[in-house]
Amino acid sequence: MDVVRAAMAENKERIFKAHWTDDEVRDPLLALIGQKCWYCETIIQRADVNVDHFRPKSEVLDEPGHLGYWWLAYEIENYRITCKHCNSGGARFDGVPEGRAKGSRFPLLAGPRAWQPGNERLEQPLLLDPAQQGDPDLLGFDSYGYARRSNAPYSPAEAQSGVCRADETIRILALNATQITEQRRELMTEIAELAQISSLPTVQARIERKVHPTAPWSSAATAALALQRACALPTDPAAQPETALSATTVFDRHRSNVDLRNLLEHLDPAELAAGIPLTIHYKKDVRAVLQRDGRINVLGRTWGTPTSAARVAIGSDDVDGWDFWRLTTAGVEQSLADFRAKHTP
Ligand SMILES: [Zn+2]
Repeated sequence: MDVVRAAMAENKERIFKAHWTDDEVRDPLLALIGQKCWYCETIIQRADVNVDHFRPKSEVLDEPGHLGYWWLAYEIENYRITCKHCNSGGARFDGVPEGRAKGSRFPLLAGPRAWQPGNERLEQPLLLDPAQQGDPDLLGFDSYGYARRSNAPYSPAEAQSGVCRADETIRILALNATQITEQRRELMTEIAELAQISSLPTVQARIERKVHPTAPWSSAATAALALQRACALPTDPAAQPETALSATTVFDRHRSNVDLRNLLEHLDPAELAAGIPLTIHYKKDVRAVLQRDGRINVLGRTWGTPTSAARVAIGSDDVDGWDFWRLTTAGVEQSLADFRAKHTP
């Protein structure tokens, strides 16, 4: 770190010695949950294990003039084990590249950007942090293997900014790329089948291996198991545990700022059942469909929030989907923001 400080004092190029690739640094990290990406939970095989700096060390994308969180370059608390796709891109959906992944991106949900050591404590990161207690719980999975927001309520900061941290993490890290989604779906189907015969000790042992933190996509396996167990319980609602898969049943006073679920009652049920067109007029028109569950289907995948759907649709990191999407219902086109304003007391 002294070398880095000296270079900065003399306004010279900083060279970070990559000691995070040394076995003595990397091995304790790999010992935690094995050779598995902390973001997407894929086992890293026949490929380099990357050590990502959660707060990027040498620059921050879209933050001109920022020199990165250089003071955290050698702090092990800032390291996350990642696969190449999460670290630097390469994932695809339906054959189309998903973008650059994390790299030097470190968007904030709230709080001032830290430019000096220590100030990072005031930041609220947008990306879910696999090493931060509570963050992984914000990610759930549907039965098709797609990652999505769990049923956790939005935080005040999410409501204030109108974005969902889970949707944004899924978008930026391409957590619903084709390959990984198919593998999660297969795993979740297998768990559902095994859960039917889980009284057999050998089957129970197989399930336990698949939900163990060192197993690939163990969060999805755990969600599938929780759903199976919930389905097997008596129908008394008080006896039903919450599962990560039920995303539409919890009242959340903040959610009108983030997603469309509270507004669905103001739409024609027949139109909604058929899917209501949404459009963005930006360079070229982009079309999407508002589904009856309030999710937006754009380019073959659904998103829980207008803003993440809009950012995917036009390939931008900073548009507000409420302003960009135009809703057409009963022959009238209006922005989602206008529609929301009309129906918000
Ligand atoms: Zn990954």
